[in-house]
Amino acid sequence: MTGSLGLGVSATAAEALPPAAPELHAPSPQPASLATLCQDALLHLPGKPVSEAVNQLCHQAHQLNGCVSVQGRSIFHLDRPSARPGGRRILVFSLTHGDETESGALARLWLERLAQVDARNSWRLVPVLNPDGLLAHTRVNANSVDINRNFPTRDWEKNALQFWKKTAAGHPRRFPGKTPGSEPETRCAVAQIEDFKPDLIVSIHTPYGVLDFDGPSTSLPRVGRMPARRLGTFPGSLGRFMWNDRNVPVLTVELHEGARPIAMSDAERLQDQLGDLALRIAKATGGSSKAAGKRPGAMAQTEGGPATP
Ligand SMILES: [Zn+2]
Repeated sequence: MTGSLGLGVSATAAEALPPAAPELHAPSPQPASLATLCQDALLHLPGKPVSEAVNQLCHQAHQLNGCVSVQGRSIFHLDRPSARPGGRRILVFSLTHGDETESGALARLWLERLAQVDARNSWRLVPVLNPDGLLAHTRVNANSVDINRNFPTRDWEKNALQFWKKTAAGHPRRFPGKTPGSEPETRCAVAQIEDFKPDLIVSIHTPYGVLDFDGPSTSLPRVGRMPARRLGTFPGSLGRFMWNDRNVPVLTVELHEGARPIAMSDAERLQDQLGDLALRIAKATGGSSKAAGKRPGAMAQTEGGPATP
């Protein structure tokens, strides 16, 4: 066994090579660990994270098979499971659009908070679904596709390209791709849904300053300057894919754009109310659709406790 030089080249092999030209002496970069990727992404989003908290969280970052962007960047996720009975499963996506950095900052704040509280529900967060777009400051991914028009909705083949040309006037920021689910970032989101089996999906965007719910009739969170407003779903959008096609509700948080997209107290209150919403939806549907199942008494027990995520 030869000693490693930390460059992926064994000492024996390195010695056997002819002397390298001086400019080649710099070590080739090692692939960054998932924790480092996570830290780099989260610490550079707007706002002031507690860097030590982020560093700790990022050591628990995971990656599903195939969750790799067009340009080869890992798409990581973080799990915050709850030990409480009756809790539901909430899946959060942010930075589906790479130029909406405030969405990632909100996901980071929720993550930091989940590390400190005894949450009622189990949360999974995918803070950077579109890492290539984040780096390039683009809404679309590196193939110039809008991920939120690329989900394989039942009507995609019939309507997506036509809708884009007519209703979206062929705007390049809303190109749905050439085929449904053509993009690796879209397929990663679908893999997350299939793996985590959420009761509620929360998708964070900017800039409309509203809460948009695709789900059963129920009262919605009320925080700050964010009225509930149904923006509707589109061919290839996450809301249409999950609620219309699969009966899993999607709450889209549309943050305001600008220096203060949401006050911290509102961000925390919104997270707690999303926890309420997940429990309320389960109650309305009898909890019949998901793994937690029917558990008489469980709801009263969880909802009677202090409000947490
Ligand atoms: Zn968006």
